[in-house]
Amino acid sequence: MLDKIKGIVIKTRDYGETNKIVTIYSANAGKFSAVAKGAKKPKSRMAAVTQPFIYGEFLVFMGSGLGTIQQGDVLTSFREIRQDIFKTAYASYVLELTDKLVEEKQADAFLFQQLYNTLEWISKTDSAQVPIMMYEMKLFAKGGFAPVLDYCVSCHSKQLPYAFSINEGGFLCAKCKFQDPAAIELPNALSKLLHTFLHVGIERVKNISVKEENLKLLRQIMNAYYDQYGGYFLKTKKFLAQLDKLK
Ligand SMILES: [Zn+2]
Repeated sequence: MLDKIKGIVIKTRDYGETNKIVTIYSANAGKFSAVAKGAKKPKSRMAAVTQPFIYGEFLVFMGSGLGTIQQGDVLTSFREIRQDIFKTAYASYVLELTDKLVEEKQADAFLFQQLYNTLEWISKTDSAQVPIMMYEMKLFAKGGFAPVLDYCVSCHSKQLPYAFSINEGGFLCAKCKFQDPAAIELPNALSKLLHTFLHVGIERVKNISVKEENLKLLRQIMNAYYDQYGGYFLKTKKFLAQLDKLK
């Protein structure tokens, strides 16, 4: 059966002399992989539409296993991303995380839209830290390991201020903070921001300004949390860390 599917190319790998296996994330069909015949020939139309970051419309023959891409048209190429090494690094990280945490063939239109919006932010602005963290938090939720950010993990109190505990998996209130000496005390604004990351769609954020030091702290928390619960090693993240040192 032929399906017309709009989606973002999140991964490609070589398959034989001239073909590629392309992994696409879409709103309607979720994540799936399909063979793109002739996609390794540099001048082929198929090569152009099966590059990472491409948002395209694909005509796909969906089998029970690997599908076959019959045809594809570029809808958005996110050109700005491929022209800038930092944008490429951030976007590659976002795609790799998506590939690792999203199950095959499970449609989730909301999550797809979050990915699209994140790539759009990366492409159009020089500071996409906040949308990237918002998207990561949505992926943590999808992966079933989102932190508890609605109340204290231990006593369920909704009384600010909170500290963030990696070990306990979320907020600890002032009374329960002693349970984790390593818990990181948060200004109330950052607790609210983390809560927003988890529950609010990126499309609802227009411009959000966060101080550089707070961005760093949030980044540290996100990284430590992922390292503890996320499980998969991410090669793009290592590269990103090296690039950040150059900045
Ligand atoms: Zn508590």
